[in-house]
Amino acid sequence: MSFENCKDVWVFIECFRGEPKDVGLELLGQGRKLADGLKQDLCAVIIGKDVNDAILESNEYGADKIYVVQGDEYEDYSADAYGKAFLELCKKYKPNTILVGATINGRDLGSKIAVSLRTGLTADCTSLKVDEDGVNVIWERPAFGGNLYAQIICSDTRPQMGTVRPGAFKKIDKVVGNKATIIREDIKVDKSEIRIKIIDFITSIKEQGIKLEEAEYIVAGGRGMKDAKNFKMLQDLADLLGGTVGASRAAVDAEWVPQSKQIGQTGKTVSPKVYIACGISGAVQHLAGISDSDVIIAINKDESAPIFEVADYCIIGDLFEVIPTLIKEISNLKCECTV
Ligand code: FAD
Repeated sequence: MSFENCKDVWVFIECFRGEPKDVGLELLGQGRKLADGLKQDLCAVIIGKDVNDAILESNEYGADKIYVVQGDEYEDYSADAYGKAFLELCKKYKPNTILVGATINGRDLGSKIAVSLRTGLTADCTSLKVDEDGVNVIWERPAFGGNLYAQIICSDTRPQMGTVRPGAFKKIDKVVGNKATIIREDIKVDKSEIRIKIIDFITSIKEQGIKLEEAEYIVAGGRGMKDAKNFKMLQDLADLLGGTVGASRAAVDAEWVPQSKQIGQTGKTVSPKVYIACGISGAVQHLAGISDSDVIIAINKDESAPIFEVADYCIIGDLFEVIPTLIKEISNLKCECTV
């Protein structure tokens, strides 16, 4: 696509059974920043069957325009149907920039669009900004095992594309009184063109309870936990706080906790109000997943552990003494509050 004709920043609002996933709404905040920098409009792209909630929320989170493609063939995600609809929209409206959530479906869709349009896509971005000339997005992501951050630009082709993991950015405040222009496109996909048939959805046991990406309080354990059974005290602390348990890769590799609990570069990106790191050294690959936490509390017996460089509160001590004490003190405080 030629540079001159391409305009606007598009954000794919992925839905599941009509509900917009948080990642799309989170990306509207980043999209707004880019759209302002590029002096273009911010557009939400919604594909699905019953998408009224997604339209309402995209408007609330500040989209200037909302492209909607609706139909029975879009009830469940398929690369064939969604890919066709998205590409038709691209051909007609020629976006400058596309942001997609790095979910399983988003990664699938993003790569299909990028390949079809012969353009570049930067995966798992952790920071987005527009360059000084107001032309290219600077896509930042961890590289070389997370030991450094690469800044990538897509200087020769349009649209410029990137994926961002759920929870990497927070949603912005709702934009009161926003009135997006809604553009409906009737794009039909014949059933015979959809090669995947969804038989059923099964809720993963691992996904039950509070999701890491949505948790306000996370108590995470690392190799310092020594054994799977010791994660019980982290769960007790998380329950007291109304949060959930996470882990470093070392704890996952030791099979003390399931992979779905891993936080970091090759795990989940989280943005809780409070992140409590217990027996985690603070390797860059772990820090890549927690940098958007409001407050980081680290418990480690090694005062030179790198986690203390990013922690807001540093507790130097044996976690097997500190955590039971914390649980006791918080329980006491809760009892006092309810008397
Ligand atoms: P360690 O580094 O071994 O640290 C254990 C800590 O526990 C130490 O600081 C120690 O002082 C402390 N400790 C021990 N006993 C106690 C005690 N009784 N009380 C208090 N403190 C104690 N890692 C991730 O976490 N997430 C990722 O997504 C990830 N992705 C990666 C991707 C790549 C490509 C690579 C190369 C690596 C990745 N890693 C990731 C691994 C990462 O480099 C580290 O190896 C890992 O984070 C270390 O986990 P840890 O901090 O639990 O263990």
